[in-house]
Amino acid sequence: MSDSPPQVRLHNTLTRRTEPLDPIEPGRVTIYTCGSTVYKYAHIGNLRTYLFGDVLHRTLEYLGYEVRYVKNITDVGHMRDDQLDSLSGPDKIELAAETEGKSPAEIAAFYTDAWLEDERLINILPADLMPKATDHIGEMIELTRRLLERSLAYEVDGTIYFDVSAFPAYGRLSGQKVEETHAGHRVDVEADKRNPADFALWKHAGEHRLMSWPSPWGEGFPGWHIECSAMSIKHLGERFDIHTGGIDLKFPHHEDEIAQSEGALGHPVVSVWLHGEFLTMDDAKMAKSAGNIIRVADLPAMGYEPLAFRYLALTAHYRSKLDFTDAAMHAATSGLAKLRRAAASESGTLDLSDEPMATYRSRFRDALSDDLATPRALALAHEVASASDLTDRQRAALIRDFDRVLGLSLDAPQPETVLPDGAAELLERRAKARAARDFAASDALRDRLEELGVEVRDTPEGQVTARR
Ligand code: AMP
Ligand code: ZN
Repeated sequence: MSDSPPQVRLHNTLTRRTEPLDPIEPGRVTIYTCGSTVYKYAHIGNLRTYLFGDVLHRTLEYLGYEVRYVKNITDVGHMRDDQLDSLSGPDKIELAAETEGKSPAEIAAFYTDAWLEDERLINILPADLMPKATDHIGEMIELTRRLLERSLAYEVDGTIYFDVSAFPAYGRLSGQKVEETHAGHRVDVEADKRNPADFALWKHAGEHRLMSWPSPWGEGFPGWHIECSAMSIKHLGERFDIHTGGIDLKFPHHEDEIAQSEGALGHPVVSVWLHGEFLTMDDAKMAKSAGNIIRVADLPAMGYEPLAFRYLALTAHYRSKLDFTDAAMHAATSGLAKLRRAAASESGTLDLSDEPMATYRSRFRDALSDDLATPRALALAHEVASASDLTDRQRAALIRDFDRVLGLSLDAPQPETVLPDGAAELLERRAKARAARDFAASDALRDRLEELGVEVRDTPEGQVTARR
């Protein structure tokens, strides 16, 4: 029967296989996504990773699962950049606070709001819960205490390290051998570690540290990885279904999270690990430190609607790299325009389980159930948009139904946005061509504008444009 939910299959980084999703509680799926480190604006690369989490969230709900989705806010810690970070130096949030003359809490609140506004612009549904690392210091201390108790950690002068040699499964997620793993952990500034692969759970606070907390080991602050162990276990339980993040979090962040959580609890915690590939620009990873950054909020000034970026993200599978280019954004803009046109008809109330709509819907579900194959789902939406076996109303109804996962606001009125680059010049040339009654040139220019996502109508007052 085409209406029974298909078996969802997902590529599990831990087993390196695409496996059927088998929720701990039937019909209910628990998901944790590593959220933003709120010391700077999130860029569209970060947002690509959150979009992939959103597609997972929406897909599972579309398929009839009840989803509990937790996405954290990293407002302390984050120890990845060697230059900014030493045992006594400021972390990234503290550094931003110093530079901008604000308190760490003000910095975190400002960049959290900016991030969530960017998410809203591209229709990322809010998570059920967005816990903050600084609200979970007690839980982090408790986990650290348990790891010490189980001889999986050791103390050196108020700093607690995880003892990688005591956890044989270390390296399973990333496929690295323990001898190689020290590359991800700083050795130079943590010379007191027993083993270069060991990593800090809790750090002794130096004198100038703005953010520090009392602990059984003196004044200190958490290591970067322990926050996600503490928050995921607290809010999703000692076993949960899916954990997502960008590919660079696989090691060391998630490898360390597994060591901490499983080490403390004595059993596996996460069933499926999913990792999204990078967004690149000119084939280089988009990164805060590389300076090649674009924000969602910057897109309108570049002539793009933020939802065209969401569309672009759907054109690539989450496990493939995606390059952000003008050509790709133009193609996304015109793809979005086509789907909007198809969704614009009045669809009224149609029974989507009638043929031939049921068959299209089941193909849509099959695509998404196949490790979230969004390029296939999107291609199917276009197939529907021009399908000759469907009426206008049926096409609109199906595309609006698909939009519950695509999240492109396909039935919403078009927001006012700035004209894309080059459009003004094309419009001027077209006005001249029409004045000269050169209709071939005028039509060719209309096509070029259409490619940019600008629809032109001729009225007695002249050309009128609409963004599609
Ligand atoms: P951060 O705030 O640096 O912890 O990054 C937030 C999320 O964005 C993490 O899941 C990263 O893996 C992810 N991320 C960082 N850079 C990119 C990129 N260029 N493309 C896709 N995801 C990224
Ligand atoms: Zn995390």
